[in-house]
Amino acid sequence: MLVMKFGGSSVADENQIHKVLEIARGRESRRPVIVSSAHKGVTDALLNAGRAAAKGEPDAAPVVDKQRRVLKGCGCDHDLLDPYFREIEDLLRGISLVREASKRSLDYLAGFGERMSVRVIADYFTRNGVKAEAFDAWDLGFITDENFGSARPLHGYEARMTTEFKRRVGADVLPVVTGFVGKTSSGEITTVGRNGSDFTATCFAAGLGAEECEIWTDTDGVMTADPSLVKDARSIPFMSFAEASELAYYGGRVLHPSTLLPAIKRKIPVRVLNTNRPEHPGTVITEEGGDNPNVVTSIAYKEGQAVITIESPQMLGQPGFLAKVFDVLGREKIDIDMISTSEISVSMTCPGASNLNEVVKALEHLGRVSVVSEKAIVCVVGQNVKKQRGLGATVFLALRDAEVNVEMISQGANKINLSFLIDDTDVDKAIPALHGALFTK
Ligand code: ASP
Ligand code: MG
Repeated sequence: MLVMKFGGSSVADENQIHKVLEIARGRESRRPVIVSSAHKGVTDALLNAGRAAAKGEPDAAPVVDKQRRVLKGCGCDHDLLDPYFREIEDLLRGISLVREASKRSLDYLAGFGERMSVRVIADYFTRNGVKAEAFDAWDLGFITDENFGSARPLHGYEARMTTEFKRRVGADVLPVVTGFVGKTSSGEITTVGRNGSDFTATCFAAGLGAEECEIWTDTDGVMTADPSLVKDARSIPFMSFAEASELAYYGGRVLHPSTLLPAIKRKIPVRVLNTNRPEHPGTVITEEGGDNPNVVTSIAYKEGQAVITIESPQMLGQPGFLAKVFDVLGREKIDIDMISTSEISVSMTCPGASNLNEVVKALEHLGRVSVVSEKAIVCVVGQNVKKQRGLGATVFLALRDAEVNVEMISQGANKINLSFLIDDTDVDKAIPALHGALFTK
């Protein structure tokens, strides 16, 4: 069995969905299961409509019009999605009456994108000679916790998926399953988080014991750097799970950070491919990775970071000081990425969150606290980063030549990344300069 996930741009319209059909047709003997995102732009349109409704302006038209265009382009019956359109209108009216869009109602709303797209795709496939059926992920065992906006499948989901799949999916049909959405055991709709359909796909791959999970997108696999900043960024042939996880977490734009966890657990290879160039081999991500031409596999960056610094003589020779710091950060739900400490100060980076003022207050009893924002973490990832003599010199000389100032530096204990902090405004200079210095082959 093969799980294939298609992202929003891969199913944007009839033209794209036709490519998906041909790709799936070529893999019929491997028993494909498709996991799909909403058509490009539909999730955003739904969430915008939700926000407008919360201000008292319920208007389903932007969503319905967008969805109708794809429906029509694909030649589906004009009333195929009418029940969904009505439900969206009702929901928006409800939100506008209470003037509040809770996380729960936003998940319910956002989930319509995938619920509609899989129906269009399955209908199109069937009319074009590939018998397909649309499924909501929860009907195939994707039952989640109640963390609206970042829900995760409940323990034991793998067994539930296997059972439900056997029970509901006929041997001669190609299932087209919603990415992104789930349901709690009490029946409320949840989502796994923006861009989370990759994660749904690897959960299904793990649950169903697939031979591979393909992530179809609009680049030739995972690239050595963000192609919008680096013109000669290239596709990476192989990556290890560890490298790809670092990269996803540090802002690599292709994979969602949680995507790999289910695949890692069951050692299922993940292959990133381009819907617009299906003949390109893309990137294969496996436990062991593989030999790439350069020492460094890729460069990622994450903008909009803040740095919290605590200076305190109390730190000197005081075991347990950091425990107190992390206790506060844990309670405030602040996710720390990089840390650097000296005898009397500790600096930590985190995503620039809105509650940082409260965090500062909560930390003040421990020392002098300051926060600076608009920073970016740059992360150089590669299996051999730690073994490579002179790599640090290459990196920092390139940054010096590009006139980029470096603030914090950390080399991960897992040996595969070198990360540092720069100003957000320097990202445009730093990434191309590093790419030029590190990717010589
Ligand atoms: N449609 C959802 C989003 O736009 C999920 C996804 O694309 O993976 O975030
Ligand atoms: Mg997407």
